[in-house]
Amino acid sequence: NQQILLVSRPSGMPTKENFAFKQAPIPDVGENEVLIRTLYLSVDPYMRGRMSDRKSYVPPFPLNEVIVGGIVGEVIESRADDLSEGDIVIGNLGWQLYNIADTAEVRKIDPTIAPISTYLGVLGMPGLTAYFGLLDIGQPREGETVVISGAAGAVGMLVGQIAKIKGARVVGIAGSDEKIDYITKELGFDAAINYKTTNDIKQALHKACPDGVDVYFDNVGGEISDAVLSLLNHGARIPLCGQISLYNLEKPDIGPRLQSQLLIASALMKGFIVSDYAKQFNEGASQLAQWVQEGKIKYKENIVEGFENTIDAFLGLFTGENLGKQIVKVAEH
Ligand code: NDP
Repeated sequence: NQQILLVSRPSGMPTKENFAFKQAPIPDVGENEVLIRTLYLSVDPYMRGRMSDRKSYVPPFPLNEVIVGGIVGEVIESRADDLSEGDIVIGNLGWQLYNIADTAEVRKIDPTIAPISTYLGVLGMPGLTAYFGLLDIGQPREGETVVISGAAGAVGMLVGQIAKIKGARVVGIAGSDEKIDYITKELGFDAAINYKTTNDIKQALHKACPDGVDVYFDNVGGEISDAVLSLLNHGARIPLCGQISLYNLEKPDIGPRLQSQLLIASALMKGFIVSDYAKQFNEGASQLAQWVQEGKIKYKENIVEGFENTIDAFLGLFTGENLGKQIVKVAEH
């Protein structure tokens, strides 16, 4: 079995030296367990947090052990009643070619609804993050202005499309002209700003949001968020989803202190973790599946081929290589 281990804790941006590939035997399949062949593997920004030895909502990855993340795979041997060979399952499993899992650790998925990789994206964790973060905390109303940072990523591009379904005016912020073109031309965002080529983001936002900002879905934090917060309307809502621009900083970034902007606008900023909504996952997943089937939501995946490219795919999240959900295709289905 080929595996990827975390062998040292990154300081700043992770490097390939923090990881190692290793060969290991595959253990026998025990009672109520299945052997799963990895087909698709998810690389996600939150995994950077687990590589540090810091207290968070999930414990740090132990050193010299296989990294654990979202995986879609095929059952190739079963000693469990409820799963058979050929079933496609999803679970939080090891970054390795084969996993042994207890049946409670995986969930069978329906490959007829959509391609199986989408269970790592639009029909999975990122989709549910967009759905609940926007609708429960953001609560966009018709005609309101919704601004999204990280707008061309897995979560961001879904947030924008859901906000459009709700009748909002949608403005995205992303890091390349290709991404800007995609979200405006293909996804129907009303305006978009390339933060890497725009000198004055605040001024560009001001132009793109003539009626101010009612909802700010924050995926990135830092200076981009500082600029958005200066444009909040009265009663604005801010789902705090991610802070990717800060994940590789060794020391906290002390930016402008913007709490007074929240006060002036009587705004609500609320952090959330998608698992807060675990009890409502079925509702969210079936609504997302329906929108995808009706063509109301488009999804995009950035699929890198080959297990050996997993680390590059992960690192690419921090340099913006991905348009849409970053996934590694490990084996043919
Ligand atoms: P994405 O698909 O959006 O990939 C990350 C993107 O972030 C990159 O493509 C890049 O796009 C952008 N980015 C990277 N570095 C920076 C930076 N320094 N400044 C601004 N943008 C940057 O990832 P996800 O959709 O999976 O996740 C988006 C955010 O949501 C992350 O912060 C993640 O941690 C968070 N999240 C939170 C969850 C929760 O439960 N609260 C669950 C899932 C995700 P660009 O080219 O635009 O720079």
